[in-house]
Amino acid sequence: MDIQEQINALREQLNLWSHQYYDQDAPTVSDYEYDMTLRELERLEAEHPELVTPDSPTQRVGGQALDAFQQVQHEVPLQSLQDVFAPEELSAFAQRVQEVSAKPQWIFEPKVDGLSVALEYVDGVFVRGATRGDGQVGEDVTENLRTVRSIPLKIKNAPHRLIVRGECYMARTVFQKLNAQREENGKPLMANPRNAAAGSLRQLDPKIAAKRRLDCIIFNIQLTDGPTFPTDSASLDYLGSLGFPVIDHPVYPDLASVSKAIAELGDDRERYPFDIDGAVIKLDTLEQRELLGATAKFPRWAAAWKYPPEQKETVLEDIVVQVGRTGVLTPKAVVRPVHLAGTTVTNATLHNQDFITEKDIRIGDTVILQKAGEIIPQVVSVVKEKRPDGTKPYLLPRTCPVCGAPIARDEDGAALRCTGAECPAQLVRNITHFASRDAMDIEGLGPAVVQQLVEEGLIASPGDLYNLDFDRVAQLEGLGEKSARNLKKALEKSKSQGLSRLLTAFGIRQVGAKAAQTLSRKFQTLDRLMEATEEELTETEDIGNITARSLIQWFAAGQSRHLIETLRTAGISFESTEQPVGEALAGKTFVLTGTLTQYSRSEAKKLLEAQGANVAGSVSKKTSYVIAGEAAGSKLTKAQELGVPVLTEADLTEILEGNFREESSWR
Ligand code: AMP
Repeated sequence: MDIQEQINALREQLNLWSHQYYDQDAPTVSDYEYDMTLRELERLEAEHPELVTPDSPTQRVGGQALDAFQQVQHEVPLQSLQDVFAPEELSAFAQRVQEVSAKPQWIFEPKVDGLSVALEYVDGVFVRGATRGDGQVGEDVTENLRTVRSIPLKIKNAPHRLIVRGECYMARTVFQKLNAQREENGKPLMANPRNAAAGSLRQLDPKIAAKRRLDCIIFNIQLTDGPTFPTDSASLDYLGSLGFPVIDHPVYPDLASVSKAIAELGDDRERYPFDIDGAVIKLDTLEQRELLGATAKFPRWAAAWKYPPEQKETVLEDIVVQVGRTGVLTPKAVVRPVHLAGTTVTNATLHNQDFITEKDIRIGDTVILQKAGEIIPQVVSVVKEKRPDGTKPYLLPRTCPVCGAPIARDEDGAALRCTGAECPAQLVRNITHFASRDAMDIEGLGPAVVQQLVEEGLIASPGDLYNLDFDRVAQLEGLGEKSARNLKKALEKSKSQGLSRLLTAFGIRQVGAKAAQTLSRKFQTLDRLMEATEEELTETEDIGNITARSLIQWFAAGQSRHLIETLRTAGISFESTEQPVGEALAGKTFVLTGTLTQYSRSEAKKLLEAQGANVAGSVSKKTSYVIAGEAAGSKLTKAQELGVPVLTEADLTEILEGNFREESSWR
């Protein structure tokens, strides 16, 4: 056998196996044998690149990466379908058809929830595949479609030209495997098989598309110069005989049988390996289709019955509460396992306390579940008639199920949050925040390193950072002696950051960098701040009741006290680095304009603020004084218009030296 013959034989063999596997559901060899044979063909083709043809099975795995997709003008548009949601809508549709066709035959197909594609064959060779796009213009995804094993790359006895339309989909089992893998690798899960298929088909790298294992099922001849048939069903049978995987297409003589089929399919949506979102009803006789024609969007001879999302009843056996990385409690329903929309469901989302309260969901209740696009189903409602005796309204715990710290409700929402400063569930995030630039600014302590330290059991609280075993840090993967030394230095340096940054680092709700600075300036030491009463706190500029209460609650908590004492022992500075605020200029608002000679703008601003003044950027009625330097511009004019007193740089110096007098005497 010469090389060409060998190659031909291998291709024939592989095509036959693919056909058996995908179209007949009857594989005759193992995947392993298939892969080995494919590899042999790849080897021969690599040695003889001049013999590679686009229809070779090797081309399914995708060669070159695509830059972007070319546009394809569809020769025959890929139209949409009119939806029907109710029996009356269905009979109205049928009646319109009957005006043209007295006794219509109905072809009935599942509506595959995937992506529509047009596949073009020339002399039996698959030459181009395109997405539907807007129906007129789609994208050329030929390379990716070549990787779909159920699309024949070469068909025998084909007409010169043939364009078929089908639906690309990801089988539910493939989707579940893909998601399981993504979960293992910590990647976000795909919402549903349709999205996964869409993402795969539009991958720029066909190798990735190949790994996703898409499938395709054909439901129409778009164009051909080959044999024609009186009915759609006959043309689909013809496609089947050519080796295409063709959609199920029973034909019914009346609407009653169609309605029955709709109901049956609705109850048994798992009949097919793909998700379906409806049933498609089409007039079978092609000549009559011509008479009915189409609107701008869809043909008048077809309709899509849309099923509502599937719902199932089951028993809510328990509610478990998880604590997220930010401390938010999320209740999750544990339900008696039930088969729903293709998967066995054991959990459902309950969102938050408000959701539970509004629907009055209780442990022991019989509930209705529904999946609508998402992976985890929702509780739609409670079947109150089936409620057993002795149930109680469900309330989320008042203490954190992970660390036991008190739970607080967010001021501005429905979330309940654990307040534990050392809560294990929030550890990575809390420590990362503690070390962040606005807080203790510990270089080299980003989320990845923190995660590592926590996983290795080296830290269980921000306080542990100052007791780190650096020998062990040096042994961690990706770190080493030098990083450990640098981390040690950075931690040492952070000890003297001072009160304001330390307060920010605690991550107390409502207390950001700005509030931390104000508090630090006013109270000067952590111990003074901890002793402050609610009134003292609220007297501080910009600190309201909510912030004050949040502070008091945080300082009162056991975990916070523990953290503070650990930090004290480690020698962390609890002192303010900010000057105490003078009271002399409290309540006065200054605006600076023009060029000052002795101070920079920011210097003057700082000095004024240190005496309790507020320094604003623009002049308004609320401005107490404008300090005008040289070449002052519009702000000066504005001040004059509003009658705001204007002072000079010399006046400013006097004020800063402590010689402030009331407004009237400056005029
Ligand atoms: P819609 O997405 O609601 O516009 O419905 C039209 C879409 O249904 C088409 O673009 C096809 O992608 C899809 N479809 C799935 N299965 C079939 C089928 N058996 N016959 C016709 N269209 C189908």
